[in-house]
Amino acid sequence: METLVSLCKRRGFVFQSSEIYCGIGSSWDYGPLGVELRNKIKRVWWRDFVQRRPDMLGLDASILMHPTVWKASGHVDNFTDPMVDCRECRHRFRVDQLAETPWVHYCPATKGNKFTIPAGGACSHCGAARTLCPDCGKGELTPPRQFNLMFKTLMGPVEEDAAVTYLRPETAQGIFVNFDNVLQSMRRKLPFGIGQIGKAFRNEITPGNFIFRTREFEQMEIEYFVNPHETVEGRPADEYWHDRWIEDCVAWFRRYGIQSDNLRLHEHARDELAHYAKRTADVQYRFPIGWSELMGIANRTDFDLKQHAKFSGKALTYFDEERKEHVVPYVIEPSAGVDRALLAFLADAYREEEVRGEKRVVLRFHPELAPVSVAVLPLLKKRDDIVRTAHAIRDELSRDLTVVYDDTAAIGRLYRRQDEVGTPYCVTVDVQTVGDSDKGEPADGKVTIRDRDSMEQIRVEAARLAQVIGDLLRGTAWAEVAAGAGRS
Ligand SMILES: [Zn+2]
Ligand SMILES: [Zn+2]
Repeated sequence: METLVSLCKRRGFVFQSSEIYCGIGSSWDYGPLGVELRNKIKRVWWRDFVQRRPDMLGLDASILMHPTVWKASGHVDNFTDPMVDCRECRHRFRVDQLAETPWVHYCPATKGNKFTIPAGGACSHCGAARTLCPDCGKGELTPPRQFNLMFKTLMGPVEEDAAVTYLRPETAQGIFVNFDNVLQSMRRKLPFGIGQIGKAFRNEITPGNFIFRTREFEQMEIEYFVNPHETVEGRPADEYWHDRWIEDCVAWFRRYGIQSDNLRLHEHARDELAHYAKRTADVQYRFPIGWSELMGIANRTDFDLKQHAKFSGKALTYFDEERKEHVVPYVIEPSAGVDRALLAFLADAYREEEVRGEKRVVLRFHPELAPVSVAVLPLLKKRDDIVRTAHAIRDELSRDLTVVYDDTAAIGRLYRRQDEVGTPYCVTVDVQTVGDSDKGEPADGKVTIRDRDSMEQIRVEAARLAQVIGDLLRGTAWAEVAAGAGRS
């Protein structure tokens, strides 16, 4: 993890938020390359799950919503963690995590000597089993209190209780409260889904592990509405679609390069399930911190729509023409975090290789996710015609792609830099491209494309470059393109 965090800072992926003020807990800023990677993850997710599917639609609901939304959803009453506070150092702890952390103990039976006692253990001298603060070892702990994880804020200029609302802790509720709007305006039949990408906020007590758990994060969520009275392939429609979505989500991560060995499913046991869920499966990824949740796919039943119908007094039903009845759809919810997906793609892409006795760091990003698609590098920066040609190529390619121009080092160095940020293709312009009139050598009008993973190079006509790069980015194999270049 430390290697990744340092690479992220050094190469402009992720910076600590407000770093010049010593930073702020668990907030991170995405730098020039981080924002490109992030945008590309969101773009391919939206394209694959919303744009390309005839059964999906998009939505962008606001972050601030009517406070009753959070009463209806259960967040006001249930979105809490039991916490204790230290009366001395004021540190706050989750009750369930206290049992799992070692604690500092100043033992009264040994003239106040300091001991660190393993999680769950008791002092062998006085028998104390953590009645004091695990951090300072001196303060008494308060009795547990429920602490709500929603960020409270005041809407409008008047500071009164009526103005209290919350930053949304999930994007899902924005979809549920718009269910009828979308149904009526778009005239859909079940099953259909609504996808949304947006920020959410949770006042986590113990954020951490870089961008894995943060208080401000971005979700890519789908609520997929199905008719619970229908059957598909002999099974209840909600159960059938739940399995389909689990498969589709796992396949999506694999398609964009996550290695199968680093993915697994975790079924929630009955006592792990949220109160509204019939079944939940997590897709877990083998993060540098160990196997952890990458995304969750829950069957939320009709809980949310029924709750909002109850609190709003509006009917949130679907009329089933075939059975001539009003039904409250069941909901399958594939919910992924942009930040967690980014960390997984980054961790999975990271390789240290040995090339001719030297260490090469390379991020093997899927070409569609790589922050920079193409780097254009002039072989000699003193030759005006080479530099001009390289700039012209950069300008042309950058109409559709993220392209950089770099002439600040020798070519070997420039390649290594691009490898380290995962740029799949480098294009070099050299003397042959533009010709050398002093030596009477004609221009061949060709440029070199170098492949990041194999480090092989081919020469193609500059006029065909945009086409060739486009083919490569759309998935044409390098070997096939190389064979084509050989023929021309
Ligand atoms: Zn303390
Ligand atoms: Zn003791």
